[in-house]
Amino acid sequence: MSNELIKPIIAGNWKMNGLESSIDELVKLIDLSSEIIECDVIIIPPYTLLDRFNSLLRKDKSILKLGAQDCHYMRSGSYTGSISAEMVKDLGVQYVVLGHSERRIQYHETSELVAKKATIAHCSNLKTIICVGESLADRNSGRHEEAIQHQLTDSLPKGFTNLNTIIAYEPIWAIGANNSASVVEISQMHRFISSLLLKYSKENHTLPIIYGGSVTQYNAKDIINIEFVNGLLVGGASLKADSFFGIINSI
Ligand code: PEP
Repeated sequence: MSNELIKPIIAGNWKMNGLESSIDELVKLIDLSSEIIECDVIIIPPYTLLDRFNSLLRKDKSILKLGAQDCHYMRSGSYTGSISAEMVKDLGVQYVVLGHSERRIQYHETSELVAKKATIAHCSNLKTIICVGESLADRNSGRHEEAIQHQLTDSLPKGFTNLNTIIAYEPIWAIGANNSASVVEISQMHRFISSLLLKYSKENHTLPIIYGGSVTQYNAKDIINIEFVNGLLVGGASLKADSFFGIINSI
C-alpha cells in the first residue's frame, strides 16, 4: 500500500504508564488542532484510562481514536484478571494491539495465540494492530525476513482484510533504544511485509503497515516518508503531550 492512498496512522502506546492527570492536556491539544491534523491518531492507554479518555473525547468530532493494549482470546468466562474484546469495545475502543513483542517475550504469547485473539477481536468489531518484529539475534544472523514471515503467517487470522487489520513492524532491537532502525532497514522490511501481505490476501491487496521503534518528533517525518510506511507506533514519545503532538505536527 503506497503512502498516498491512506491517511497516516499515528498510534501512541502508553504501556503500563499514565494516571488520570496525564490525559487532559493531550486531549485538549489534539481536539483544538483537529482541523489541521491530517492523520488518524490512536491513543492506546492502559485499560484503567479508557473510560476516562472516552468521556473526554468530543463525540463524533474528535480525531482521536482509542485503542486497547491487548484482549483475551475467549469471548468471556472464568479468566480471572483478563479483559475481553467485547469489554473494551463497550468502552468506546476501536482498535486493539496484539502480539506486541513485550507480550510475546514477557508472557510467552505465540503467534497462534495472537491469531486467536485477532479472530475474537474482529468478531467484536475491533480493528487489530498486529505487531511483528525480529530480535537482534535474528537480524545479526541475517534471518530477519524469515522471522517476520513466520510471525506474520501464524499471527494473521483467517478473516483479515485491509479494513480490520493493521500490521506494525517493530524490530525488537529498536524499541526503547536511542536510535530507530535506519531508513534503508525500514524501507526493505516494509516492502518485504507488503509483498507477503499481497500474497496472503484473498482480495489481493496489502494492509496498512506502520513502523515502531524509537520514533521521536525528530525522526518521524523521515520515517513516514519512506515508501510502504503508512504510519507510526510510538511508545516512549507518546507519553508526553508535547512530544506526541510534536510527532503529529511534524507530519
Ligand atoms: C513500542 O514499544 O511499541 C515502541 C515503539 O516503543 P518506543 O517508541 O519507546 O521505542
